[in-house]
Amino acid sequence: MVISNQNVKEKSRELTAKVVGVASVDRWKEAPEGMQPETVLPGAKSVIVFGVPIPRGMVETIPGHLWSREHGHLMGGKVDEISTELAYWLEDEGFKSCPIGGLSIPKVTYYTFSKALGGVPYNDFEFYKPGGIALNMAGVAAGIGTLGKSGNLLVPKYGPNIILGGVLTTAEIEPDPIMDYELCTDCDDCIEKCPGDAISKDGEAGKPIFDPIKCWLMNAVEGRTFAKATEAGDTAVIENLQKTVFMLSEATPATCICGEGCLASCPIDNRIKKLK
Ligand code: SF4
Ligand code: SF4
Repeated sequence: MVISNQNVKEKSRELTAKVVGVASVDRWKEAPEGMQPETVLPGAKSVIVFGVPIPRGMVETIPGHLWSREHGHLMGGKVDEISTELAYWLEDEGFKSCPIGGLSIPKVTYYTFSKALGGVPYNDFEFYKPGGIALNMAGVAAGIGTLGKSGNLLVPKYGPNIILGGVLTTAEIEPDPIMDYELCTDCDDCIEKCPGDAISKDGEAGKPIFDPIKCWLMNAVEGRTFAKATEAGDTAVIENLQKTVFMLSEATPATCICGEGCLASCPIDNRIKKLK
């Protein structure tokens, strides 16, 4: 069977995705080594990217325990299910397909984080396998949004408050056009409200200057503890944290608990004004 762009949209929406787009793998020509879809799934021809919005009421609990612990479980779980069901559907139609989970972060990101913590006790090569897909960039390639200054994908109506998922597939599906305008208005709200000073004022719409290390050190419990331990010269705590980060990188993709600037403040989420 030929899978059409329309088939993908209908199936994704039936599975409760609110935003959906398709990219052809040739849009990854400029991507860093190891970050192409074919690295993850040999023979991949298309990448489906979809999103599930975080309810605005939940965004407004930022910063807080409910936000930090629940949004990942709730939205991430929903996205995981949609991506897996889409992959099953495509394989039933005869095309190898690899789901990308809702809170999937390429391991290269963790490599950057671990360097910030002074290195981790395993070799770099193992860490890079098997590569990954950055879903924010995939969202741009699939035409569903554009990058904000914070580096988050912004989509119409929901701004950055959307959890993305995807499917790599060997099906050749007609791609959507890439957006030819920027959603980011350069308002700088994300910069002013970022407690970690992680977004640079020198950035401009579509060209984010975001420092993942500053963000991580601000966000994660381990990051803040690490900063304190470094100040106090507490090597036992530092060593323990390095081991913890190693385990975290294997077990869970998400340690972020903040979002105060880059998510909650962005006005492209027009629910801020529309909802009572
Ligand atoms: S998660 Fe927090 S520290 Fe990181 S960029 Fe967003 S607002 Fe800044
Ligand atoms: S808060 Fe403003 S500058 Fe930051 S991403 Fe949103 S629109 Fe762009």
